[in-house]
Amino acid sequence: MNFSTPVEKIPGIGLKYQKRLNRLGIKTLGELLFYFPHHYGDFSKITKIKEIKLNERSCFKGKILEIKQERTWKRKIILTKAIVEDDSGAIQVIWFNQPYLIKVLKKGDKLIMAGKIVLGDKQAYLSSPVYEKIPETEDKIQDAKLTHLGRIVPVYSETEGLSSRWLRYILKPLLLRFKNKIPETLPEIIRKKEQLLNLSSALWQIHFPDSLKLARAAQNRFSFEELFFISLFNLKRRAKMVKAKAQSFPINVPLIQEFVKSLPFKLTSAQKKVSWQILKDLEKPYPMNRLLQGDVGSGKTVVSAIASINVIKAGNQVALMAPTEILAKQHFQTFFQIFNQQRSFSSSVNIGFLTGNEDKFYSRKLKSGTIEISRQKLLEKTKTGGIDILIGTHALITPIKKGKSSSLRVLENKVKFKNLGLIIIDEQHRFGVEQRAKLAGKKTNWKIPHLLSMTATPIPRSLTLTIWGDLDLSIIDELPKGRKKVITEIVSPQKREKVYQFARSQAKNGRQIFVICPRIEEKEDEVKSVEKEYKILSEKVFPDLKVKMLHGKMTPKEKEGIMREFKQKKFDILVSTSVVEVGIDVKDATIMIIEGTERFGLAQLHQFRGRVGRSKKQSFCFLFTESSSKKTKERLKALINCNSGFELSEMDLKIRGPGDFFGVKQWGLPDLAMSALKNIKLVEKAREAAKEILKEDSELRKYSTLKRRLEVFEEKVHLE
Ligand code: ADP
Ligand code: MG
Repeated sequence: MNFSTPVEKIPGIGLKYQKRLNRLGIKTLGELLFYFPHHYGDFSKITKIKEIKLNERSCFKGKILEIKQERTWKRKIILTKAIVEDDSGAIQVIWFNQPYLIKVLKKGDKLIMAGKIVLGDKQAYLSSPVYEKIPETEDKIQDAKLTHLGRIVPVYSETEGLSSRWLRYILKPLLLRFKNKIPETLPEIIRKKEQLLNLSSALWQIHFPDSLKLARAAQNRFSFEELFFISLFNLKRRAKMVKAKAQSFPINVPLIQEFVKSLPFKLTSAQKKVSWQILKDLEKPYPMNRLLQGDVGSGKTVVSAIASINVIKAGNQVALMAPTEILAKQHFQTFFQIFNQQRSFSSSVNIGFLTGNEDKFYSRKLKSGTIEISRQKLLEKTKTGGIDILIGTHALITPIKKGKSSSLRVLENKVKFKNLGLIIIDEQHRFGVEQRAKLAGKKTNWKIPHLLSMTATPIPRSLTLTIWGDLDLSIIDELPKGRKKVITEIVSPQKREKVYQFARSQAKNGRQIFVICPRIEEKEDEVKSVEKEYKILSEKVFPDLKVKMLHGKMTPKEKEGIMREFKQKKFDILVSTSVVEVGIDVKDATIMIIEGTERFGLAQLHQFRGRVGRSKKQSFCFLFTESSSKKTKERLKALINCNSGFELSEMDLKIRGPGDFFGVKQWGLPDLAMSALKNIKLVEKAREAAKEILKEDSELRKYSTLKRRLEVFEEKVHLE
């Protein structure tokens, strides 16, 4: 047997248990050994029989004095009755309906048991305790200690027909046999410095700890290891990026100054700071890999335009990708406006728009406004350099598929650039060297385009150091002046009417309203759905106003249409799912009503709130909840008191864990790593350790086990 031995080949497992183990994601011996308990039961304290208290769960040792089986008078229940004694006294034990026990347990057997003493008709008895036979060799062989009782006991995530008890039974002998055969992965200098258990004892202690302290120490070692691998992985990606070549774009200072001067507003100092960081990166001969973080409305778009202008004026192209058509279109319009204000640029900047779903494509030669051109022509222009900025959705990188049957599918319209210098991605996407090279249409090891990712989802620091650790960060931590803070209120059910009245009065003044619901269709429960709310609001509550709905099941074209109409103020109220979460800019929207708030993360709610308050008008955010729990209230209060997306995201991480954050799921991390991501101290240590090792030996030549494990890790993570 070795670690890749399939579980069904392990003695005692077989086909029946193979299926069950597979359900837990365990296919090999290695995976079984690394299936860690999610918590522990403490059965280490042994109570004397004399000291057992009524109705209290306790654990004790004793010897069977006598044992017999009986049926109750109705002959329905089988009772196995035993008398068990220790040196302090004896007690009656009764198991119900476990007829096999009479065959397993014999007079004279030594048992350890845990259960509750209850009062019967005649006397107190121990009711159906869990038990374990104490082996004869007890105390002689250290590792033959008890498995299920009389110790700290591991509790695993179970599945039907597969209990923690069974896992303990199977795992113990396997661990004893294999724990010393697994090569240590963490370099000794790191283990010494961080005082981490070695692999073999950590593996034993995480399953069968001698104390809770040792269990924590074992978890700590494996948590550290996970974070260490994530850091190594990302630091290596970073190193690879630095070795690649990119076109250097010297900062064209007069150009940038002129551009900034002609904007209708003054840049905030945060915008200036990050623009400078980005421009500095573009000067370097290796590709930029930067994440621009900024709260909703902090003005990221104009920063990306500044970067673009520097690249375009050097004669290169820019690609901008957004996650949805709506957003892509909005960027297209924004870029058009921004450049249109620039007399000196307007004659020479040509912006194209491409998505996978529309048949019409636009090109904007700025002086002449929008022209509709065919897809073919747009692609042709992009290829020959006639388009300076191509804006679109994923269609920019995914060739459009044509033809119905899969065998007939032809890959068409692959976008080719003449000289792509910069890729801008709104709302987080990781782009590796290979992908960027592909988008640029060049073979790897030639020039790679620079990458600027942008996100309004604030990412907690521990995540930017780990799973986003290959990126450089720029943070806009300041909103443009003159923005009014959105007034946020938790609304009790009795006040719902009042909110609606207020909303109506605002709508009569030309303001618009968002209503966000957690789901699309109505189900049996109380959760608000877009379809039902739409019906109620349009027919009963606001028959005098125009209401429309938007959700993810509509076609992109329908969604696009609705959003356009809302922006053009063709209706007053938009009932929507979370599709409006990112980036949508509707200037006259001043009211955000959120239903089922308990179903959203704080940072996400903050994003919704950011959809309003985008102008000088006072805006409002009303939070409805069906939950009256204290926890929900506290969470929502945080939203009222705190206006920083960064702080709210740190709270989300604490309360909900990292799973809700964008990009985290793609890593497929084990639970232990997920909870380790909450621990900023450990994250920092692991990253430092990874840096040290790479500094000492960037190719990990001295650390062959580590290198191999890292390769396995790399294979498991699919980020692109
Ligand atoms: P986000 O960072 O959420 O993408 P946008 O780039 O869409 O934000 O900017 C939000 C709005 O703020 C836009 O209408 C933009 O024109 C405006 N804006 C950007 N920077 C400034 C500034 N320094 N002063 C005033 N308004 C600004
Ligand atoms: Mg934006």
